[in-house]
Amino acid sequence: MAHASTMKALVYKGPGQKAWESVPAPAIERPTDAIVRITKTTICGTDLHILKGDVPAVTSGRVLGHEGVGIVEQVGDAVGNFKAGDRVLISCITSCGKCEYCKQQMYSHCEDGGWILGHLIDGTQAEYVRIPHADNSLYHLPAGVDEEALVMLSDILPTGFEIGVLYGAVKPGDTVAIVGAGPIGIAALLTAQFYSPARLIMVDVDDSRLALAKTFGASETINSGKQDAAQAILGSTKDGVDVAIEAVGIPATFDLCQNIVRPGGHIANIGVHGKSVDFQIQKLWIQNITLTTGLVNTNTTPMLLKTVQAGTLQPQQLITHRFGFDQFLQAYEVFGNAAREQALKVIISNG
Ligand SMILES: [Zn+2]
Ligand SMILES: [Zn+2]
Repeated sequence: MAHASTMKALVYKGPGQKAWESVPAPAIERPTDAIVRITKTTICGTDLHILKGDVPAVTSGRVLGHEGVGIVEQVGDAVGNFKAGDRVLISCITSCGKCEYCKQQMYSHCEDGGWILGHLIDGTQAEYVRIPHADNSLYHLPAGVDEEALVMLSDILPTGFEIGVLYGAVKPGDTVAIVGAGPIGIAALLTAQFYSPARLIMVDVDDSRLALAKTFGASETINSGKQDAAQAILGSTKDGVDVAIEAVGIPATFDLCQNIVRPGGHIANIGVHGKSVDFQIQKLWIQNITLTTGLVNTNTTPMLLKTVQAGTLQPQQLITHRFGFDQFLQAYEVFGNAAREQALKVIISNG
């Protein structure tokens, strides 16, 4: 199936600049590639970091985006699992399936992949995208499931689950504090409930996000802009929380996590940190805590797909705004002013 030689895409033009413009459409470059026509995509906090110039590996001219669902347009000769016309979920992590890291399911460190979409190669905020190692980096969409819900599985659900809930080792009966009620914090909140924790305490500075968190299963919320969150949490627990999940990425929120973790507890950092934090090793060395951090592997995506198909997980709850492809810049405007717009995740649909 042939597609047009040009397409519209959201192009990074250097720090602070972007454009929705015509660029050459991608073509198969290696036999393991697929070309996917994007039907729905979204914008990630990481895209905003890139636009600020915080991710220097992204160069001017790069098509942004690492999340989305679409329809396979064309496949290379070596692609066996997918064919033209298949509806697919695109993983934010590309993986060859063969290297040492892939063999350990540490796809984020794939020697010929990892996070490359919208970073080192052109991404999903476009009419078409080239997906390397398609057999391992795409998933068939289950029939009868809302496509918008599945866009949440490209990045934020696996990130919140793997790096927050699994690394944090959430168990039944635990008291869990999630610091940050943005999309990733909410993803951790939704997936932590797989394990029936006793208490899920959500901390943020935005009352509307905290109110939303309540509807998604938070048992308590704390506005850390209005009260001392550490004092409130320590005052309502015996000696702190079992798991503190950091989902912001600034020194103050990391500090809060290290101040509220109980002896033997876990701090699971998901936040993308732009500067160093003050790790209180002189207090914590004796507390038998575990501190984890990392980039999502997306090895749990098949499991998460089943939970969405079964309705156990309903990630469409995260979607607050919807746009068409011709409104791409407006979608960035809204997502970039998330607090003012009360935005969590936006969906941008192609046609
Ligand atoms: Zn992302
Ligand atoms: Zn690999």
